[in-house]
Amino acid sequence: MTDFGFTEEQEMFRTTIRRFAQKELSAGAHERSKTHGLSQEKVKRIAELGLLGIPIPEEYGGQGGDWVSLGIAIEEMSKVDPWTGNVIILPALGFLCLQQAQQEVKEEWIPALVQGKKIGCFAVTEPEAGSDVSAIRTTALRDGDHYILNGEKAPISMGMDADVAILFAKTDPDAGAKGVTCFWSPMDLEGISRSLVVHTGMKPTACASIFFDNVRIHEKYRVGEEGKGFYIFAASGADYLRVCLSLTGLGVAEATLEQTIEYVSQRNAFGRPIAKFEGVSFKIAEHYTYIEAAKLLCYKALYLKDQGLPHSKESAMCKWWCPEVAFNAIHDCILLHGHIGYSEEYPLEQRLRDTMGLEFADGTAQIMKIIVAREIMGKVAVPY
Ligand SMILES: Cc1cc2nc3c(=O)[nH]c(=O)nc-3n(C[C@H](O)[C@H](O)[C@H](O)COP(=O)(O)OP(=O)(O)OC[C@H]3O[C@@H](n4cnc5c(N)ncnc54)[C@H](O)[C@@H]3O)c2cc1C
Repeated sequence: MTDFGFTEEQEMFRTTIRRFAQKELSAGAHERSKTHGLSQEKVKRIAELGLLGIPIPEEYGGQGGDWVSLGIAIEEMSKVDPWTGNVIILPALGFLCLQQAQQEVKEEWIPALVQGKKIGCFAVTEPEAGSDVSAIRTTALRDGDHYILNGEKAPISMGMDADVAILFAKTDPDAGAKGVTCFWSPMDLEGISRSLVVHTGMKPTACASIFFDNVRIHEKYRVGEEGKGFYIFAASGADYLRVCLSLTGLGVAEATLEQTIEYVSQRNAFGRPIAKFEGVSFKIAEHYTYIEAAKLLCYKALYLKDQGLPHSKESAMCKWWCPEVAFNAIHDCILLHGHIGYSEEYPLEQRLRDTMGLEFADGTAQIMKIIVAREIMGKVAVPY
């Protein structure tokens, strides 16, 4: 058995991030949670502290840190302001996907993402194809040393603010999954337009419908070979993204549970604090247990990533379970607050909607369970 704890350095890092989040992110967090679009001022500050480049190598302006530390930052920042936890995920995802891009594109874009000068988004889903990614219809057809992009991607987190999209499109529309190619698509190319998708949660990471209308993109922006888009995503970003989204939800749930512990310790009914009633305290005990177990699973997955070991199974387990754990915890916390928990004056109802969004993003629980089953049982458990 190895040590289950964090290193001394990681614990110190957690303390630093916690202080930063309390000092600089807590004021106005509730108002921001109701507003579509990123706070550029906060993005700038987060970038100044190097938090957009935690696991990115120093040669690109990053911290050269470990993936567990990135998870710690996501958890701590999400406790105070969920979208800030979310916003530090994208630069590293971009870095991972760009491993197979041309050096010129890497050098131009990775430092800009780390410095917060450019914002990225990840564009797979389309109105007609979500879980079944092989059914996407956006095309990228060759025209000399360019491709012509046509199609629509929606809903894409941070799509309204993004300067670049990690885009998946079909270079061979008849080849199913084998026809999907990955592109690094700057958003200022002629023919790209976007409109807001009004979601009920995660509003600061404003989702967009992004339209590609005869967009000419140079072949230097193709990432990897034609037809290898699925492989690039699966091999680089997918596992990492799933754990990060999971920790975002758990951070929100942890903060809500902490506030609820305080509330039930002070709120009286029948002449005593409601925390005295087992119907109340056992709920807290149960959710504390689930959150603790779910966090361990997330950090195990990131630890495996740090060791360069496979973690697809662990990531998919995180992604189906953690948003559900978070949602259930926040739901019960609202009930334990009585009617005021249901009021828009308090952040709890918004957090419930935020964590529900995480149940969809990057694949639903059903799709994650197919991955877990495939990893455990092999092809016999794959339904198609
Ligand atoms: C807040 C939010 C942010 C998002 N951000 C992004 C983003 O940044 N980039 C991006 O590309 N996408 C993003 N998405 C889209 C997200 O990835 C999709 O919603 C998700 O993959 C599901 O696809 P769908 O909505 O088309 O549902 P569908 O695929 O139509 O599925 C509908 C239902 O059927 C179930 N289902 C489908 N197939 C199966 C199966 N084989 N077995 C069992 N059940 C099945 C699903 O689980 C779901 O419950 C975001 C979504 C939300 C809500």
